[in-house]
Order: sequence, then structure tokens, then C-alpha cells
Amino acid sequence: MPLIVQKYGGTSVADVNCIKNVAQRVKATRDQGNSVIVVVSARSGVTNELINRAKSLNAKPDDREMDMLMSVGEQETIALLSIALHSLGVPAVSRTGAQAGILTDNTHTRARIISISGGDIKEQLKAGNVVIVAGFQGSSGDGHITTFGRGGSDLTAIALAGALNADSCQILTDVDGVYTADPRVVSSARKIPEINYEEMLELASSGFKVMQSRAVEFAQKYSIPFEVRSSFNQQPGTIVKEEVTMLEGLMVTGAALDRNQSRITVSDIPDQPGTAAKVFKALSDKDIIVDMIVQNIGRAGIANISFTVSRDDAERAELAVRQCMTEKGSDDFISITNIAKISVVGVGMRSQPGAAARMFEALAQQSINIIMISTSEIKISVAIEPEKADEALRTVHTAFNLG
Ligand code: ADP
Ligand code: ASP
Ligand code: MG
Repeated sequence: MPLIVQKYGGTSVADVNCIKNVAQRVKATRDQGNSVIVVVSARSGVTNELINRAKSLNAKPDDREMDMLMSVGEQETIALLSIALHSLGVPAVSRTGAQAGILTDNTHTRARIISISGGDIKEQLKAGNVVIVAGFQGSSGDGHITTFGRGGSDLTAIALAGALNADSCQILTDVDGVYTADPRVVSSARKIPEINYEEMLELASSGFKVMQSRAVEFAQKYSIPFEVRSSFNQQPGTIVKEEVTMLEGLMVTGAALDRNQSRITVSDIPDQPGTAAKVFKALSDKDIIVDMIVQNIGRAGIANISFTVSRDDAERAELAVRQCMTEKGSDDFISITNIAKISVVGVGMRSQPGAAARMFEALAQQSINIIMISTSEIKISVAIEPEKADEALRTVHTAFNLG
């Protein structure tokens, strides 16, 4: 019997009616002769609500306690969905991440998966049960609950599909696929029928929130194809896999916006070997991912470095830099500014010149100032003022004829 892993995100299980809809879809999938594992997120808004409640009690809550708290959201949904399936006469059992044998390291709030045994999932499927697994969570070797970072239910689904050798993995969400840009911002965005892991990974880590980037990274590493599609209709979605048919002449596949970025500027630091190494070692020791980096040309032995991090990491990044620059007497050598990042991604850039010129010209025509630039072989990103973010995304999307 084919094994299907289906993941339903927060808006797909938002309330009792949505959960009934998911139960119907799961029943239909099972009635077609499939074994089904369902991964669910917390109801939409629940994880944020839990985080806000913790932060109202303590501005810097402990990471282990946050995992204990945030994992509650998914636990509610697995039980509700199981109860809904029972009322349709479908045998179903719910499992937490720990019960599904998802073993992680102990980096609370952003744990990495070490192994997946599956617990008793195989036996339960053999007995005819639908198995419902709580997304986003696992358990460290010493039995503590861990979570995988925001959007982490995607990772649970991909990882389970890989570990249990599923025949297909579907990510069911509130859009019917991966679009050339966020369809909520760019109304002319187009659904992409197929995309390879490499481009999907760059787009997910640049702001395509529809997939968690760590989940795509995992899918690429272990060659686990998946489909992103709607939980509200039956439209075919977007297939993400290794090899896809490329349209000749297409330079850019998608344009992404990340509103959640901060620029940190460290000023008046010694322009000598080892300074940058010291700053970025301090950040890496704290597991902080740095994106763009700019160092100006030193004058009179003094230089400035600016770099960008996710806004959620900005305070930790500032603290890490302060702690490593012990020779700095004054307090005001670091500043944090909110920025937005616009990126265009496409493997076509490898063979065709001119992507940067086209992007920068389009932004200039709209008087949108570029604050920082970074490039890779298949991506160009610019930092801009957050107020111009939507306009910039639409401008770039049009400039590359993505609509
Ligand atoms: P879920 O709760 O199902 O995990 P998410 O909110 O995490 O859903 O992701 C779906 C959202 O991703 C969509 O509502 C959409 O606004 C956003 N999104 C951003 N970029 C894209 C894109 N390029 N294509 C489709 N959706 C996108
Ligand atoms: N509930 C978690 C979050 O909101 C995980 C997920 O939805 O994928 O980030
Ligand atoms: Mg999500």
C-alpha cells in the first residue's frame, strides 16, 4: 500500500471547521487505498500567542522552557484531528515528536534532528491506523522536548517521509503552490509547476515563507521530493525535486522579500588583521547566521563593519559583538537598524549576464535606495528601507517578467 505523508499548516487547522475539513481530506486519501501519516502544526496564531505570553512575563525567556511551551500548540492539534477522524469512523492515533522517535540535539528552539526511529508508526499503519504526528518538535537524548525553529512542521514532514521511505510527501497550506513571489504582495505572481531543490532552498531562505528553509535543505540532502499544494482545493501544486525542465532563456525563477532583517553596524574598530575574524567568530559561537557583510575601506587605522541578521537574532548578535570587543570603552559603537531584503534567484544567472544591472536599474527608476548588496552564483540580494519593501518586490518581479 503506498505511504503518503501529508502536512497541514496552521491556517489549515485554524479552528474546528478547518480540522473537520482536514479530517475529510485525510479520510479521502485513505479511502483511495493509501497508508497515511499526517503531520500538523499548531492552530494559526497559537504559537505566536504562547511566545507573546512568555515574553510578557520575561523579556528573555529560557530556551528550554520556551520549547516546553511552544510544543503545546501542536499537541492540541494532533489530539483534535484524531478525535475528528474517529467521528468519521477512521481509526487514528496521535503521536508527539518524541513518540515518533524524532531524536535531536539539545539546541533548544532550533534543534537539529539526529535520527528518526519512527517509534511504533509502522506497526500502527500496518494495523490500519492513520498516524498523526505533532510537527515542529522532537526530543533530545536526555528526554527534553525540543523544537526546530519557526515553520518547523515542514521539517517534521520531510524528515518523516525520508526516514519511513514514503511514496509521496505533500505540504498542504493556504496557497495552492509556490509562486514567483508572495501572491499576497504581488497580485500578478504565477504558480511555478516544478522547481529544483537548489532554487527552492535559496528562495525559502530569502523569504518564501511557504516552506521552512531547513526543511528544503533536508529534502535536498536526502533527495526527498515533495509537493506544495492547497488544503482548501484540489488544484495541482508545485513539485520540488532534483531535476526539473528548465525554460531556456529564463534568468530568474522567483523574487523574494524578507521583512524580518536587521543591519548591525560596528564602528570605529581597528583596521588590522583579525578584527573581522573576532567579530564573526563571536557570532558563530552563538549560532547566529549572518547574511550580508560590508566592510568599508579603513582610514587612519579605523574601519566600520555592517552585517545583517534575522531580526529575531539582532539583540543576541549585538550582545555577542559587545562581549568580544572588550577593548571598546564606549557603548555607542554598535547600532541596529531594521531593513528589508529583496532577492532574485535563478540558476539561469549562471549562464546569462545582466541580472544585477536589471534589478538595480528597476529599483533606481522607482527611487528605491539600495543600502547593501550581496550576491551568490544564483542569487542577488539587496537591503532596502522596510517602508519600500512591497513596492520594491513588485518592481523587481515586473523587471524580470515573472508575472
Ligand atoms: P502554513 O501555516 O501552512 O505552514 P505559512 O504561512 O507558513 O503556511 O506559508 C504560507 C504562506 O507563505 C502563504 O500564505 C503566503 O503568503 C506565503 N508566501 C510567501 N512567499 C510565497 C510564495 N512565493 N509562494 C507562495 N506563498 C508564499
Ligand atoms: N507552530 C510552529 C510555528 O508557528 C511550527 C509550524 O507552524 O510549522 O512556527
Ligand atoms: Mg509554514
